[in-house]
Amino acid sequence: MATRILELTEEAAAAPAHPPVARIHGLGKAFGERQVLTGIDLEIQRGEFVALLGRSGSGKSTLLRALAGLDGEHTGELVVSGEVAVAFQEPRLVPWKRVLANIALGLRHSDPKRAARAALEEVGLGERAEAWPLTLSGGEAQRASLARALVREPDLLLLDEPFSALDALTRITIHNLVRQLWTRYRPGVLLVTHDVDEALLLADRALVLGDGRIAHEIRIDLPRPRHRDHPEFLALRRALLTELGVSPEGTA
Ligand code: ADP
Ligand code: MG
Repeated sequence: MATRILELTEEAAAAPAHPPVARIHGLGKAFGERQVLTGIDLEIQRGEFVALLGRSGSGKSTLLRALAGLDGEHTGELVVSGEVAVAFQEPRLVPWKRVLANIALGLRHSDPKRAARAALEEVGLGERAEAWPLTLSGGEAQRASLARALVREPDLLLLDEPFSALDALTRITIHNLVRQLWTRYRPGVLLVTHDVDEALLLADRALVLGDGRIAHEIRIDLPRPRHRDHPEFLALRRALLTELGVSPEGTA
């Protein structure tokens, strides 16, 4: 008995102050015969911004869906601590509910409408609260989708290529917004993207998925806000493109 108490104390001493918001060990996922994920090891800390890159079909969305608890069966360990919210490439707003009602939908909160209104203000959409989703521009709809995720005060925010359908200018604005919101609320973030610059502008770490596992990892220790013409940015872009198997010639 005494030995067991000693073991527990030592475990407690060795553990970090806060457990990671997501901890994955040896995660595997198959669809029928096709083994998409073969052995994923990943930890995301609260306040950490992680970007996930990889070729189309490499299993990025599959990993994100596993973290979101949207896909039942997988092998290995997956522990998520706290509230999780997801935003997808399509904003997935309910067309027959106004924007505000969309944000408040299913929200466990003493005053869902008030919380939803505050979230809309935060993403700069306060004036569109009573609009119908189909009257929003692409950028506005994606802001609404972000507001719907944020209002849940997630410990882990999962973003699956949420900006890829936006035009370049709208993307810059929404990148800045995401960076500001992340700085203020410090959730752990996993951002799936195929855009190397997006990863380098936003994330602390970029992971490259290949052959069903995390094949490469690059730390991005650049001060924020970041600039694409910074020499270190360009060097990291070259490194990341090489890891992705894309020739950086002509792009840097
Ligand atoms: P990515 O997001 O990296 O483009 P996905 O995670 O969507 O890739 O898909 C990885 C692989 O798993 C693809 O080959 C895809 O066809 C397959 N896949 C994804 N979801 C399903 C599903 N529900 N049923 C069968 N195969 C699937
Ligand atoms: Mg995908």
